[in-house]
Amino acid sequence: MHRKSAARSLPSASRSCNLCSDSRMGRWRQTPVARVVVVPCATPDPANPAMQSTARLPASPPGPYEMVTMEEEMSVSPLEEGSVGHSRAGPTSRCRSARAACAGRVCGPQRSRTMVWLMVALLALVQLTAGCGPGRGIGGPRRTRKLLPLVFKQHVPNVSENSLSASGMQEGPISRNDSKFRSLETNYNKDIIFKDEEGTGADRVMTQRCKEKLNILAVSVMNQWPGLRLMVTEGWDEDHMHAPESLHYEGRAVDIMTSDKDRSKIGMLARLAVEAGFDWVFYESRSHIHCSVKSDSSQSSHTSGCFTGDSTVLTEAGVHRKLSELRIGERVQAVDAAGRTVFSEVLMFMDRDTHQRREFVTIEAEGGALLKVTPAHLVMVWRRERSETRFVFADRVREGDHILVHVAGSLEPRAVHRISATLAEGVYAPLTGEGTIVVDSIAASCYALIDSQTVAHWSFLPYRLAEKVSALFDRTDSLSLPRHEGIHWYAKSLYTIKDYLIPSNWLYH
Ligand SMILES: [Zn+2]
Repeated sequence: MHRKSAARSLPSASRSCNLCSDSRMGRWRQTPVARVVVVPCATPDPANPAMQSTARLPASPPGPYEMVTMEEEMSVSPLEEGSVGHSRAGPTSRCRSARAACAGRVCGPQRSRTMVWLMVALLALVQLTAGCGPGRGIGGPRRTRKLLPLVFKQHVPNVSENSLSASGMQEGPISRNDSKFRSLETNYNKDIIFKDEEGTGADRVMTQRCKEKLNILAVSVMNQWPGLRLMVTEGWDEDHMHAPESLHYEGRAVDIMTSDKDRSKIGMLARLAVEAGFDWVFYESRSHIHCSVKSDSSQSSHTSGCFTGDSTVLTEAGVHRKLSELRIGERVQAVDAAGRTVFSEVLMFMDRDTHQRREFVTIEAEGGALLKVTPAHLVMVWRRERSETRFVFADRVREGDHILVHVAGSLEPRAVHRISATLAEGVYAPLTGEGTIVVDSIAASCYALIDSQTVAHWSFLPYRLAEKVSALFDRTDSLSLPRHEGIHWYAKSLYTIKDYLIPSNWLYH
């Protein structure tokens, strides 16, 4: 990791007035970002020794991160970034002098500018670390590996087709008269042979995701066996010729073969299908491979992460409010950077759709706490062996992991004893100033999709700043429901550019 060069890449503008910046900003620290010895300006909170013990810098690749106390964050000025071994008196006196200096002048516009520059610098650091680190980051090494054919009756992944980590739940058959039929696409790819035994063209009908994967596979087949093409023997089934739970009824499954119908190639064809990105590939018979994908609606959870409408949050007034009734401006229970529960204002709904039907992960912990959240949402998980809290995608939480449950005024680790999937209507994704939220007593992030609470929180910095500025002019304490249905325009803009700014291995797939 190019620690020194990364530290130098911070623009000079970031050196102004960092210490008087909004204490809510930048308190989540991404592990691979260059950070060094930290000497707190203030005494750490003895009430949270475990949370505070995470200030060590692990030499781990990009991934989840640790929580940092506000005091620690305050103690690190940009000048200290990358410097090692300064004396204890140094940073402390710098903190004091900087605070004194800031107290004597107007910091608002400078602070805003500094923060925007810091955000830009952070994104630059993300790219740098991605280029240096392992994985599929931009500029990362490409590894070649030998592809092994699947064996008869093998399926990849090695779980059932309807598991969350495979193609997910069945959402119900689609007929031509169904409104959902319009969401299906027709595949006219000339590199694919559609057997079309029915003569209706049904084999060409499929979901967008299935079409994407199939088209990728068609290219792989031509590369693997020049002169041959991919053949689809069965696609969307409107005649109910498959088993009752089949994904063929939803256009999410295809049965495939090579155009020469050579059975000796079928194991390798299955491997190519895995590589093409099908969510579940099954060497089902000697004459075809069955491949299926997640539903397009579950993939829309890739654009945001949400809770269900009947999930509740605790407001500052002591009321357990359903998310479907929560309003912008209310203060709800969240978790601050020190791991303490606080009340934080709801700034917006990143997504709020009362009718959308989605797949949720249900996480049940000892003591009865239960959270329903979309698979790509970040949930706080306590790593007992390392005494640290990490943010983990909900569908990667495992039974036996410890999530943080609010009990009698504090957060306590509770073991997860059951994880399941469920379909529910209505999606709600409130954003608090802290970037965290306690839902149904379980601590979670407000963010999804990006395997970095830090980057996600910083990416909403301009919006949070704008909210602060507007609050200066509008001091009414009115609470409101969002005017939009669906994803908020700001969140939508970020989701659009994320693929260009964030390394692929940091994104939920
Ligand atoms: Zn099939």
